Amino acid sequence: MEKLLVSACLIGCACRYDGGSVPNEEVLRLKEKYELIPVCPEQLGGLPTPRLPSERVYGKVLMKNGADVTAQFEKGAETALYLAKTLGASSAVLKARSPSCGMGEIYDGRFSGTLTKGDGVTAALLQANGIPVFTEENLAALPKNEKEY
Ligand code: SF4
Repeated sequence: MEKLLVSACLIGCACRYDGGSVPNEEVLRLKEKYELIPVCPEQLGGLPTPRLPSERVYGKVLMKNGADVTAQFEKGAETALYLAKTLGASSAVLKARSPSCGMGEIYDGRFSGTLTKGDGVTAALLQANGIPVFTEENLAALPKNEKEY
C-alpha cells in the first residue's frame, strides 16, 4: 500500500496549539487506500501542547508573545522529512494554513487572521525535497494513479 504523510491533527490527534484536533472525514477515509503516517512537526520540533500560536514572518517563526521558535519549526520539518524518506511516503496531506503544514497560503505574521501567499516550514521542505504536498482542501489533486493504487 502506498504511504502518505498526514498532519496528525487531521486524523484526530490532539496536537494543535490549543490542545485540540481537527479530524477530517475525507482525510480519515484515505486510510482505505494508503498507509497513513501521522506527524505533527511542531511537536517533533520539541514544542509543548498546548502552546501559543505561531506565524511565519520575515523568514522567522514567532509565537504570539514574540518568542522566536524558528529552530523548533525547522527541527520539526527536518524530522518530518526524515520520516517521509525513511518510511517511503510518496506524498503528504497537511493541514491548510498552518505555519508548519500550510501549502500555498498561510497567516501573515500579524496574528490578525489575515492570509498571505506562502507555505508552512514543513510543507516547503517536503516540496523542496520532491514530496508533493496537498491539503485537506485539495484532496482531489492527489494523483489519480495513487488514489486508485
Ligand atoms: Fe497539525 Fe501540523 Fe499544527 Fe501539528 S503542526 S497541529 S500537524 S497543523
